Amino acid sequence: MRVLIGGGSGFVGRELTRLLRDKGHEVTVISRQPGPGKITWGELESRGLPPCDGAVNLAGENVLNPLRWWNESYKKDLFSSRIDTTKALSQAIAASSSPPHSWVLVSGIACYKPSLTAEYTEDSDWTPFDLLSQLVKEWEAAASLPERAAKTTKQVVIRAGAVLGRDGGAMKQMLLPFWLGLGGTLGSGRQPFPWIHVTDLAGIIARSLEPPANTEVTHSSPQVYNGVAPAFTTNYEFTKELGRILRRPTIFPVPEFVMSTLLGSERAVILTQGQKVRPMKTLESGYQFKYPDLTSALKQIVGS
Ligand code: NDP
Repeated sequence: MRVLIGGGSGFVGRELTRLLRDKGHEVTVISRQPGPGKITWGELESRGLPPCDGAVNLAGENVLNPLRWWNESYKKDLFSSRIDTTKALSQAIAASSSPPHSWVLVSGIACYKPSLTAEYTEDSDWTPFDLLSQLVKEWEAAASLPERAAKTTKQVVIRAGAVLGRDGGAMKQMLLPFWLGLGGTLGSGRQPFPWIHVTDLAGIIARSLEPPANTEVTHSSPQVYNGVAPAFTTNYEFTKELGRILRRPTIFPVPEFVMSTLLGSERAVILTQGQKVRPMKTLESGYQFKYPDLTSALKQIVGS
């Protein structure tokens, strides 16, 4: 299978590329920078979709970029880096004379309103309630194919929780303070912390890229899968387990107002609030998690 991955040079994209190549598939990355095995977004726009059997979009400015202040220009980049790239791919698929059989977008669980009690599945209704949920709405809408194209291309949206892995994402920023014994709960610590190991996210994407089964009708709306581990975890449980595995104390809680001051309150909610998200459809699809629980995931990541 030939797979085109927008933003495939990033944390999730590198893991997905490894997995697909191990299975004997060919990967082409769409990037802002030209290079071997890559095309640029400009080339996609001017030349149209290259021959491919599956397409994925993973492009997006990092929401927790510690080097960027939370201001209008950053917010604009968060939206345009996701929506413009997703639109470019969905339009290229719709215009292609030999479209791929599968089109996968990885979005986020920020569409579900933070709550200590509510539980969400892929069937849960939601409407935007803040900036990040508005982003998810516009991002997923940008992926939607017109009806004619949806008859030939299976559409999948995977809503990912915090992606945990050794080579990127939140863990990359957290490991050093935890190693130094400076780790601690964020805010109250009671907030749910929906997470997924990067190997499992890549596994769910790879499964979604497979051709639709004969019995599978092609829907005009996308199939949605929650990309989170089946075990519910709170920020307190995550903090204590990471400290236990690293054999380091976790006695320095970071109050919510400090997080809001450092990150801006609109994005601090990603860490200080959370949602209980169940991967109901993901499990029903038969996907078997390699890292269903936090202990196995963290042990793999910190290599103990
Ligand atoms: P990365 O931060 O690693 O970024 C992926 C790629 O996006 C980069 O390699 C880069 O490719 C491209 N990119 C970055 N900034 C921009 C920009 N301003 N404009 C256009 N392209 C840009 O992402 P991850 O691999 O961690 O995540 C993949 C997707 O999953 C993202 O859309 C992310 O929002 C989503 N997601 C990730 C989560 C996580 O915890 N990591 C959680 C939930 C959702 P290049 O430089 O080659 O152009």
